[in-house]
Formats: sequence, C-alpha cells, structure tokens
Amino acid sequence: MNDILSTPIEYLKGIGPQRGEILRKEAHIYKFKDLLNYFPFRYVDRSQFHKITDIPYTEGAVQLMGEIRSIKEVGRGKGKRLEAKFVDSSGTLDLIWFKGINWIKPKLKPGMKILVWGKAKLFGTNFNITHPELEFINERKEVEKGLQAVYHSSEKLQRLGFTTKGFEKAIEALLPTLKNQIEDEIPQWIINDIGLVSKETAFFNIHQPATIKESEKAALRLKFDELFLLQLELLLRKQITEKKIKGYVFSQVGDPFNEFFANHIPFELTNAQKRVIKEIRKDLSSGIHMNRLLQGDVGSGKTLVALMVMLIAIGNGYQACIMAPTAILANQHYEGISEMLEKMDLRVELLVGATKQSERKVLHKALQAGEIDILVGTHALLEKVVKYKNLGIAIIDEQHRFGVAQRSKLWAKNDLPPHQLVMTATPIPRTLALTFYGDLDISVIDELPPGRKEIQTMHRFESSRLKVFKFIEDEIKKGRQIYIVYPLIEESEKLDYQNLMSGYESISRRFPLPDFRVSIVHGKMKPEDKDFEMEQFVKGNTQIMVATTVIEVGVNVPNASVMIIESSEKFGLSQLHQLRGRVGRGSDQSYCLLMTGYKLGENAKRRIETMCETNDGFKISEVDLKLRGPGDIMGTQQSGILDLKLADLAKDAQLVQLSRDKAIELLEKDPNFRLPEHQKLAQRLREILKAKPNWSRIS
Ligand code: ADP
Ligand code: MG
Repeated sequence: MNDILSTPIEYLKGIGPQRGEILRKEAHIYKFKDLLNYFPFRYVDRSQFHKITDIPYTEGAVQLMGEIRSIKEVGRGKGKRLEAKFVDSSGTLDLIWFKGINWIKPKLKPGMKILVWGKAKLFGTNFNITHPELEFINERKEVEKGLQAVYHSSEKLQRLGFTTKGFEKAIEALLPTLKNQIEDEIPQWIINDIGLVSKETAFFNIHQPATIKESEKAALRLKFDELFLLQLELLLRKQITEKKIKGYVFSQVGDPFNEFFANHIPFELTNAQKRVIKEIRKDLSSGIHMNRLLQGDVGSGKTLVALMVMLIAIGNGYQACIMAPTAILANQHYEGISEMLEKMDLRVELLVGATKQSERKVLHKALQAGEIDILVGTHALLEKVVKYKNLGIAIIDEQHRFGVAQRSKLWAKNDLPPHQLVMTATPIPRTLALTFYGDLDISVIDELPPGRKEIQTMHRFESSRLKVFKFIEDEIKKGRQIYIVYPLIEESEKLDYQNLMSGYESISRRFPLPDFRVSIVHGKMKPEDKDFEMEQFVKGNTQIMVATTVIEVGVNVPNASVMIIESSEKFGLSQLHQLRGRVGRGSDQSYCLLMTGYKLGENAKRRIETMCETNDGFKISEVDLKLRGPGDIMGTQQSGILDLKLADLAKDAQLVQLSRDKAIELLEKDPNFRLPEHQKLAQRLREILKAKPNWSRIS
C-alpha cells in the first residue's frame, strides 16, 4: 500500500515537474502522502453568501457572489495597487491587490462572474477586501453545493495555480488513487470503543466533507491517531528505559530519615507530601532507575519532600545533590537545608558560580572522598571537575529553567545513573505533562500546608498609586515586608531599567530613612551585592524589596505579605503566579496588587482577571496553555519534539487523556504486541521509534 502513498508528487495527474518543484519547495509536499496530509485549515459553506449591504460592521471573513465592474491600477512604485470594483445585487465594494498585480490583472475582465472570499474591512463607509480569494464561476457550470476546504497557500504557490482551488483540484486527483490504500493501524477494538471513523474515511472527509459534522469526525479520528501513537511511543520508551536501566536499590529508609522525621522535622507533613514521599520511596527501593516529575503549586512544600528523599539516599550510603536555577535560590536551599539538619551529623555544602577557587578545591576533594552528604548548587554542579564518590540521587528544582542537555550531564557522573527527581516551579497543565513528560512518572502535591490564608489579589490602575503607597505603609507598620517587582524584558531592557530605577527612587523618597529601609535587586548587580541585599531583606533589616524577576523563583521570606507587580500586563501568567507565590508563606493575610496602565489587550485582561479569580496554580496553568499554546510554555528547548499537525494540546485535553488511557489499556492487554490485530500498529511504532532517536530521554 505504501507504494502509492510514497509516489513522488510530480506523478500526480495535473502536477508535473515544474509544479511538483514548487510544491516541494513551498509546501514541503514531496510525495502523495504529504499532499494527503496537507490539511485544510477551514471550510467554506458554498451555499452561504453575504450580500454586500449585509456585511456585518464587526468585519470578518465573508463569501460573496457577483461580478467585476471595472479594473484599474492606482499609484506607482511601492504604493501601486490594483483595484477592482465588485458588485452584487445589493451594492459595491473594492477588491484590492498590492502584490502579484501583473499576475492577477490579466485574469480579471469587466462583466466576469466570480465568487469572492476574504476579510471585509471597513474604509470610511465602504468595505473593501484585500487579496481576496477568487473563483471564476464560468470555469464551472454552476456554483457547487456543500462545503469547500480552504488550504494555506503562498504567492509563489498561487502563481503556479495552487490557490485553494488548485489544492482542491489536486486533492480531487489524489483521493481516487488512494481508495482502499489507507489502512487502519489502530486496532479495531479501539476504533469501536471510541466510535471512530475509519482512517480512509477520515482522510477523505477532512478534505471533502459533505457536512461540518463529517469534517469534525474526520478530524477527531486523525487527531486521535496522532495523540495515541505519541502516547504509545512515550509509554514504550518508558518501558524500555525501565527495563534497561537499573538503578541503585535503596532498600531501607535509613537512620537519617528516621531521626529527622522523629526529632527535627519542623512541621507535620501534609497528606500530599506523605503520599508523594511514599511514591518516591517505592521507586527508590525497586531497583529501577527513578525518573520522576514532582508537580506542586507554589508553596506546596516541595523542598521538604526533596530533603527527605535525599535523606533516604544518605541512609543507604549514597550522596545527594540538589540543583537550582539561580544562586539566590541555591543559597536559600543551602541555608534552609543546613538549618533543618543542624542537629544531625551530616555535611551539607554549597557550590555556585561565585564559589572561590580555593574553596572549590576543598569541596571537590571532600566530595570525591564521600565526606559531603548533600551538595547544593547551581549549574556549577554540572562542571566536569565535580565528581562524587557515589551520587545516589539528583534533585532538580524548578525544572523549566534547565535544558534537557544540561540534565543529561548529571547522568554521566556515575556508572549507574543517579535517581532523578525533577521539580516544577509552577504546575504544568496535565495534557502537557502527559505529552512532554510522558516518559516520566509524575507525582503531584495537590494540597497546601494548613493555616495558609488565601492571598487576596487585586487589580489597580496607576491612578491609585497614592492609596497603594498608604497601604504599603500600613502593612509595614504591622511589621510586614513588601515586594515591588518590575518587569525586565529583553527587547525593552533599557527602558525597563529606567523604570525600575525611577521606581526605586520614588519609593525611597516616599519611604525614607530612618523609619524605612529599601532594598533593590536586579540582574545587573554584582552577585555579592545581590546576595547582600537579598540577605538584608530575608533577615528583615529592610522592609521593601524592589526587584526584577530575579526574585521570581523560590525565594522564601515568610514575613513578606505584600507583592506589588508593576506593569503586570507585561508578565506571563505562570510568572505572575510564581511571583505571587513569594507571599502568603506565613500565617498573615497576604496581598498581591497587580498594577497596570489603562490600555490592556485582550490576553492581558484575561491574565489579570484569572489572577484575581484564583490562587490555584493548576487552573492558572490551563488558562495559560489556552492563551499561549504549548510551544511557548515548554520553551524552545522542547521544540521539534512534538509534531502534531491537527491535535491541539490546549483544546484537545480530553482527547490527550483518552489516548493515554487507550495506550495503557493496549499495553496491558498485549504488552509484547503478539496479537495479530496489533501487528500493523507494531510495525508503525517500529518505524516511528527508529526514525526518532532518543529525544525524550530526559536523562
Ligand atoms: P515550593 O513547593 O514552592 O518549593 P517550599 O518548599 O518553598 O514550596 O515551601 C513553602 C513554605 O511552606 C516553606 O516556608 C516551608 O517551610 C513551608 N512548609 C513546607 N511543608 C510544610 C508543612 N507540611 N507544613 C507547614 N509548612 C510547610
Ligand atoms: Mg521551591
């Protein structure tokens, strides 16, 4: 069957070498199957026409039927354009071209009947349509009924006839050759369970649906195929990894854990923390290498979990390390962990970029001699010279800051790979976790420590600044501390710094010495100065911390109760949530004030509203996914991993889950693909696994 699908595109009726060339270059269509997979991006109902006088003033895509009255070129040079007057029984509008004038002009003749499709824009009191799609009615005997697929095209493609119509014709030539050639790889029992249409029907109907319903069913089938194969692939990779990669066996919980738990733990664990520690303990004793993602909202107590897991490693005779994305955060982990372990006979050390050479030497030696139990640090932990005696577990905090490649460096440090626990800064939507980390096990802390008051979040415009200052003053008088965060965006860095500094000045003026003390931290400061200022705030020597997002992640000052975010419309949702998470860590009522200008775009409005509505990081991450899309959330480091053509991780959440469930069901039924009805699927998976090397190996 694959023979036909793999036929070079120029052999399709009506294509030929020259047009084949442009399809390859412009649309990456090389073979029949590429054209088959060149999906329309929407459909036009051929029976629905607007009248020019009825075009809604809200503007938008319209389909019109009428005739060309006159054609003229206007202007010269770059401003040159082609204008055609178009009339229907109700009125007139202009069709306008700025590009491809020489190509389109000879095709237009006064009196010609055409269908026009495009975006109508209002100019004064008249509508016009720029670069419309046209169909000449006399080319066909009559206007067709039903739906027409609309395909992406480009000027170059259009020059060689690949308008949306041109693609439609090519598809018309293609589909008959594929009758009975498209086989279902997905086993019949799944198709039946879900009520999917056959793959052939799906491909035919996505291009030539009779009704919208048909096109939807077709899309559902094709999306399911994409997601199901992806989930199967991820699960198989996970299986392969688990089979192949042995891990250290931590057979006992060990004395350090028990002693800590009995005598030094500062609070009672939440149920979620207990459950997660249990899940991890099970992994660690299984003899299989652990590769686990720990998800938890800001402030849910991931650090304590990390510490207790490291204690298990130590109790089994191994070393542990925890890696954070910034020196500030590493420092804080170091101090927190050292404090919690103060009364225990363990050695905790810190290694960051700023660690002096002489200290490093001592550290390296002690580490290799096995004298250090826990090493806390930043990227500095990944340097080649950092060698452990026996690293049993590596914990990576706030994972989204690390690239896959960086993580894999930790891997290379032992003969057996250390167990790995990756902790997220804020929750990732479930669909993304299932797709991007589908080959990891996932633990979720879905509960905050008790006694926390909901942070109150409010949106304030610039005009309420005086009131905001008064509020700050009142809070400081109650003994609380305040964060004021400014955006720092690369493109507008200079301006952002000016804003930050002038903000700092006006705050310092409004809150003068000796009653008030203001700290400032930003990325251009020397690390020592940063650390100094940070420490002043942590110790409570300063009441206000003016900062950029360098404080975004992880910083823990329980006495801070107000987070003011300036120009908050410039921040992304997960960033806002992460920043807000810096307050509400103590037992006081905490507040987050989102300052904005008056002009807010749709998305910015939605972000601010979402923040005011909920404190739930899991909910926020879902909205974030809808607003930004998966690529932006997961970062470019992950791009290329996902090759989803139709499925949309933001919109098709249920389908992601369904495909995951079905993939698991299949593997339970037939783990080794022995059943005859699974052979085609097995073959397809072999192809996929062969074509894609180890992209998803986090470790
Ligand atoms: P995150 O998950 O955002 O990294 P942290 O680990 O920084 O959260 O914990 C947030 C705060 O909650 C810290 O001050 C920590 O000491 C405290 N905390 C953690 N676990 C508990 C618990 N079980 N009970 C009370 N407070 C806790
Ligand atoms: Mg943290």
